[in-house]
Amino acid sequence: MTDLATVREVGLRDGLQLVKRTLPTDIKIEWCQTQAACGFREMEVTSFVPPKVIPQFADAESVLKAAQSISNMRAAVLVPNLKWGLQALDHGAKKITFVLSVSEAHNMANVRRTTDTSIAEFSELIAERNCRGLQDSVMMSVALATTFGCSLQGEVAEPRVYNVAEQVLMAGAQELNMADTVGYGNPIQVKRIFTEILQLADKVQVAAHFHDTRGMGLANAVAALEAGVREFDASLGGLGGCPFAKGASGNIATEDCVYLLESLGFATGINILAMLEVRKNLKNWLPDEPLEGKLLKAGLAATFE
Ligand code: ZN
Repeated sequence: MTDLATVREVGLRDGLQLVKRTLPTDIKIEWCQTQAACGFREMEVTSFVPPKVIPQFADAESVLKAAQSISNMRAAVLVPNLKWGLQALDHGAKKITFVLSVSEAHNMANVRRTTDTSIAEFSELIAERNCRGLQDSVMMSVALATTFGCSLQGEVAEPRVYNVAEQVLMAGAQELNMADTVGYGNPIQVKRIFTEILQLADKVQVAAHFHDTRGMGLANAVAALEAGVREFDASLGGLGGCPFAKGASGNIATEDCVYLLESLGFATGINILAMLEVRKNLKNWLPDEPLEGKLLKAGLAATFE
């Protein structure tokens, strides 16, 4: 039996977050539809955040609605706190990823509250979901930003990572998404932390979210794979960055991540050539944005099956 691995596209959220020019809603929807047609089963399509802070996501409601009408594709949304989590619930989101940082300094800078307050708000959001009778239809994930290090605080102690993970699991998280927000992780550390997290999480899904800030992204993905992770976030063309990480490039490039997993014998269900067509369109949609990713330039290896 072939092992399966999932690549979740986050370009429409993480990728677009720092893009100054607002991408028109119809283009976002076209991106979402065409990439889903390549076989992507999950995409993080937008973020419910104050439009004054990130005008790019002022159309969150419309993008979510369109994305949810695509069959066989789960549309996830990211939220920074309870208030916007409730907005996502109100608008019918079926997967909500609540972001909080393991690093106190990063959490204060990013969402202006302590990590403890964020965890408490996540608990309240779960309670509100359950109160509305939505526990079987709305999945709640937590993205643990700065798991592998922080540009503001420096080292993030591993016991602290496990402690925060345990608290959000106790609160009812149905997924832990461990994020190398600023690209400080290395493969040895990544393998060690995921091995521990997979044990802690037991049957709860664990995902990896790597940025390729210092060229470690795909090496870290292999390390996470070796630890047992099968869910990977990536953004087409490596679009994206982090406001608190100098020179940050975006997530690992979706096309390179899919190629990596398939080369290692994992079935992703993704049509690679169709995906590269969407990648070409991305350049037309965002002509001013620097894009990464090797596969489009080089093409598939002649030996690739
Ligand atoms: Zn990210």
